[in-house]
Amino acid sequence: MGRVYNFSAGPAVLPEEVLKEAAEEMLDYKGTGMSVMEMSHRSKAYDEIIKEAEKDLRDLMGIPDNYKVIFRQGGASLQFAEVPMNLMKNGKAAYIITGQWAKKAAAEAEKYGEVVRVASSADKTFSYIPDCSDLDIPEDADYVYICENNTIYGTKYKTLPNTKGHILVADVSSCFLSEPIDVSKYGVVYGGVQKNVGPAGVQIVIVREDLIADGPAFKQCPTMMDWKIQADNDSLYNTPPCYGIYICGKVFKWIKKMGGLEGMKAHNEKKAKILYDFLDSSKLFKGTVVPEDRSLMNVPFVTGNEELDKKFVAEAKAAGFENLKGHRTVGGMRASIYNAMPIEGVEKLVAFMKKFEEENA
Ligand code: PMP
Repeated sequence: MGRVYNFSAGPAVLPEEVLKEAAEEMLDYKGTGMSVMEMSHRSKAYDEIIKEAEKDLRDLMGIPDNYKVIFRQGGASLQFAEVPMNLMKNGKAAYIITGQWAKKAAAEAEKYGEVVRVASSADKTFSYIPDCSDLDIPEDADYVYICENNTIYGTKYKTLPNTKGHILVADVSSCFLSEPIDVSKYGVVYGGVQKNVGPAGVQIVIVREDLIADGPAFKQCPTMMDWKIQADNDSLYNTPPCYGIYICGKVFKWIKKMGGLEGMKAHNEKKAKILYDFLDSSKLFKGTVVPEDRSLMNVPFVTGNEELDKKFVAEAKAAGFENLKGHRTVGGMRASIYNAMPIEGVEKLVAFMKKFEEENA
């Protein structure tokens, strides 16, 4: 059987040429006689892999020299604790609640200090991004936290919140490397890689050096969660998720070849437009997000009839369009169209949706 069009929210589709290259190098990585999976993380070959991955990421994102890049393990959810443990020096932080992942991050942070929920879009099932131009942020808050792209609900910040001089911390798990960002506007940018960048098991934390210069806010912070220790050891304090980082490195090179983040943005906007234009004109399918806050990555939609939604997901699967079922907490459908989803995947999906609409009108 050939490859399907995989619309999974994560782990998700990766560039085919990256997978092929990894397959070719599986038994013998560049004459070392072994797989990257079998290689010491202290070896010369691996040192080159991790250093080159960091360099390519720095080039792609234009990461300023005063920011550290750390490759971590533990799932993006571990960062929900690492953020307060490292940054909550005054014991207080502001959180903007735009979905499950921000909600979970806030609940976790509450174990370590006071969490002030300064805005939320819970009133309309997280279908929009709240106005963040003039929030009531406590003076002594250590940071303002956002989930920049909401994987489940399909919303994305189009402008960053006015943090009124506070540090901005962003979970970019589901929009990582999907378009250019100005890293200097953030104190911390972090994300799990299993959507746009690589296999599950790696997260990338980009943190401004001065924020970790004195070590974590909590002295009992476990060594493994201490960003300063991780940064001082170039992500090699202990064994990192070696193979995952190697694949991320290949994806960075693929993105560079695709025109960098500007190229990625154009590619993603084109795909998203095809799908949103269809949703806006359809008599059967409807998008669930206000147009101005729509994500380029995760596109939720419904027919308004649960039985018909189920029928659609089943028939789509049979036709080679996988993982279109919406998140278990919201139902309906969701097409995740990350960087590696080709344009023809979206075009074919829309053609299939048109046919389904005609047959079920
Ligand atoms: N943040 C966002 C935006 C996510 O979409 C997810 C997972 N889908 C997470 C955090 C949690 O990631 P993990 O499963 O790696 O802990």
